[in-house]
Amino acid sequence: MKIVLIGGPGSGKGSRARLISEEFGIPHISMGEICRNHVKGNGKHAEYMKECMDKGILTKDEVTIEILKERLSKDDCEKGFILDGFPRTMGQAEQMDEVDHILHIDCDEDILFKRIIGRLTCKDCGGIFNLYGPMPKEEGKCDHCDGELIIRDDQKEHIIKERMKVYKEQTEPLLEFYKDKMKKFDAAKEIDEAVKEIVDFLQKGPVV
Ligand SMILES: [Zn+2]
Repeated sequence: MKIVLIGGPGSGKGSRARLISEEFGIPHISMGEICRNHVKGNGKHAEYMKECMDKGILTKDEVTIEILKERLSKDDCEKGFILDGFPRTMGQAEQMDEVDHILHIDCDEDILFKRIIGRLTCKDCGGIFNLYGPMPKEEGKCDHCDGELIIRDDQKEHIIKERMKVYKEQTEPLLEFYKDKMKKFDAAKEIDEAVKEIVDFLQKGPVV
């Protein structure tokens, strides 16, 4: 089962993808996380990618695709995967292999902004919480692993504004490109209900 999630910064596609991946036993492939790990691990393109992240802009398609392909070639992706944060440009979409489902997490820009501004990420396990809910049980600590919760550098206000602009200019055209095979979900829904809705839909089998 190969699934792609498309949604703006703050649409909650990361937390949705994580829960859906648990439900179906397929890996959650987060492009953002792959990039951050690449930078942390001092990979081949680390310097260039760090520069892009700090500016809130996208890395060149060829670099993004190279790094993603490397990840998708690992054994755990054999039965499928849920991809979050790719494709983000028309160039990437044109080079993407066939998938079973394309899901669009649709959301109003103001809600997105508020949501992403309040986001806290666990330093250790990548768990996501939010000042506007869901809040961590204990302030500043991750519910899953007790790790420290931080505001990621790419989630500071001016960077978010830039990321939203990039999304509008470069990713939104994909919605038109995929409109016949894409299923739309409302990002404003509570996470549990939202995930249930997506899981129910996916269990009915591929439509693409
Ligand atoms: Zn954690």
